[in-house]
Amino acid sequence: MHTEATPTHCPYCALQCGMSLAGGPGGVQVVERPEFPVNQGALCGKGRTAPAVLSSRVRLTEPLVRSHATGRLEAATWEEAIARVADGLSRTRTEHGADACGVFGGGGLTNEKAYALGKFARVALGTSQIDYNGRFCMSSAAAAGQRAFGLDRGLPFPLADIPRTGCVILVGSNLAETMPPALRYLTELKANGGKLIVVDPRRTRTAEQADLHLAPRPGTDLALALGLLHLVVAEGRTDEAFIEERTSGWEEARAAAMAHWPEHVERISGVSVPELRDAVRMFCDAEAAMVLTARGPEQQSKGTDTVGAWINLCLATGNAGRPLAGYGCLTGQGNGQGGREHGQKADQLPGYRKLTDPAARAHVAEVWGVDPDSLPGPGRSAYELLDALGGDIKALLLMGSNPVVSAPRAAHVEERLRSLDFLAVADVVLSETARLADVVLPVTQWAEETGTVTNLEGRVLLRRRAVSAPAGVRSDLDVLHGLAARLGHEKGFPTDPEEVFDELRRASAGGPADYSGISYARLREGNGEGVFWPCPAQESGDAGLGEGGAGADRAVHAGTPRLFLTRFATDDGRARFVPVVHREAAEEPDAEFPVLLTTGRVLAQYQSGAQTRRVDELNSAAPGPFVELHPRLAARLQVGDGEPVTVVSRRGRAVAPARITSAIRADTVFMPFHWPGEGRANSLTNPALDPVSRMPEFKVCAVRLERA
Ligand code: SF4
Repeated sequence: MHTEATPTHCPYCALQCGMSLAGGPGGVQVVERPEFPVNQGALCGKGRTAPAVLSSRVRLTEPLVRSHATGRLEAATWEEAIARVADGLSRTRTEHGADACGVFGGGGLTNEKAYALGKFARVALGTSQIDYNGRFCMSSAAAAGQRAFGLDRGLPFPLADIPRTGCVILVGSNLAETMPPALRYLTELKANGGKLIVVDPRRTRTAEQADLHLAPRPGTDLALALGLLHLVVAEGRTDEAFIEERTSGWEEARAAAMAHWPEHVERISGVSVPELRDAVRMFCDAEAAMVLTARGPEQQSKGTDTVGAWINLCLATGNAGRPLAGYGCLTGQGNGQGGREHGQKADQLPGYRKLTDPAARAHVAEVWGVDPDSLPGPGRSAYELLDALGGDIKALLLMGSNPVVSAPRAAHVEERLRSLDFLAVADVVLSETARLADVVLPVTQWAEETGTVTNLEGRVLLRRRAVSAPAGVRSDLDVLHGLAARLGHEKGFPTDPEEVFDELRRASAGGPADYSGISYARLREGNGEGVFWPCPAQESGDAGLGEGGAGADRAVHAGTPRLFLTRFATDDGRARFVPVVHREAAEEPDAEFPVLLTTGRVLAQYQSGAQTRRVDELNSAAPGPFVELHPRLAARLQVGDGEPVTVVSRRGRAVAPARITSAIRADTVFMPFHWPGEGRANSLTNPALDPVSRMPEFKVCAVRLERA
């Protein structure tokens, strides 16, 4: 344990709050880092209690291998464990081909790990079958951003711009619970006279802060955005000069919106025409305005078009590509942004390059020292990959994910995992997914290792090692190095994170997410406030997309906090309107399943809960799942507050206590998804996929409720 406080970052969400860790008589202590600009010292309960997960009491501290004799997971040496994984993968490859080996990553992995995992899959294994759980997070927003702007970076501006804009429409984000320190940006906005509109079927803690809360029926955000755009046009509030100078495709998008009459939108969404008019007035009266989306509109089988409709609203009103205005996505996972840029996505190479682009393949292949033709093509998306387990895919290496709890149609995914010939899981704890593995590899985590993460603003940060890992635990980079060596790749998989990052920089050079001008030395400078990508090395030139450019000494690019100020990243520099139309959810209520289910998170737990369910303080605050329902629905069922309710969908059932509240629509129930077992919300959710992003429809499906 280092005695002085070491500045680092929280292991959990995409805000990547700064904190320091210090040793003391009571163990590892969290010390505030008020100088770090994003959270200015503030932390939520998850961040404050994060050191509890470092304790060897809750950790895996030795490899586990399933005994052929007893069928149980038993302690093994690292050498035995690595040999068993390498053997499982190479045997599968020999018998069934490289694509019979799957690799599944996570949005919490550092940039270095995400990069190394993608390279391992494509070079050491030669498989195309790699994707990651970030597909379940923000992939619809990423796809819509690429489509409209030619580039996806969660927020194209720093969070600090939010209080200085005039109006924010926050769609499907409960950031008061998911990332509480970010709430101050909204309260400062209001203190400055700005307006806040929250779109959410529930009156959440965030919605309670709003000047206007719109509560649409789940799955109708697209119609809502179209209704607003219709009114913008009808009331003459478009910015014709901006549309003319900086966009393309307006006429088609305009025509699509004009087919969605406000009265029609009211019938679809349940949001009244006067509420729509109020929202348009607030949004258009502001000199500059923003739309921010999160999982609500994104986790739908039409998520890309839904986000596209909100982007169209921004473009039509001139709220993009200029200061204090624009569209942004509040990415969820700790490295949700960086995790999608460096090659663990099924269709991507490092630097956010397209795997199908011959020039991108040639560039990355040169950095990797391989023949571009040897690189496989795109593989399956996350759910499709999980669905293929036991079928085409016989063996799986999984890092930093717990799909038994977090995947849609989770009981089916669990059954698929059980049907594999071979499963290896690298994790810090014995998660529900790790329990099914043939080999479990105990790996280091946040404060025990150095690595970079990229927060929701595109700010690349150095998370420093602050404590020693328990004996018996190794880094994911060590795991990949060891496996690659046994698969015949002695070189090319370094274990030193800085060495991996330097290779990542070269691989990303000239790509959309260009990190080539960022180094560990630079990230250690100042208050550790990080560098915004794109940040080309000087010789690569300026991306020309924003306010970045060579720094004062002309030797260093300044990074790019604000994108698109002079041009968008499309071929012609113009943002693209995409015409979109409302369509129903993949599963609408009917006589058998008459109620809508939506899912989400609570303040004291994080994602699948693999870490936070091991923290006593968080478990006391949020001990288990619940079914939030309106008093009218509860009365119909004759269920009292706290009594168990069974929720049934076409895919399964879940049982949890009722939490009765008028803060939710009477046609909708809500369940948090952090828990396994009989209260597992994802037993119910629908894996219907968005055709563009391949995002499953977590946020809306049809269910029936029964008294348990
Ligand atoms: Fe950690 Fe997110 Fe909480 Fe900040 S808001 S302390 S990053 S979980």
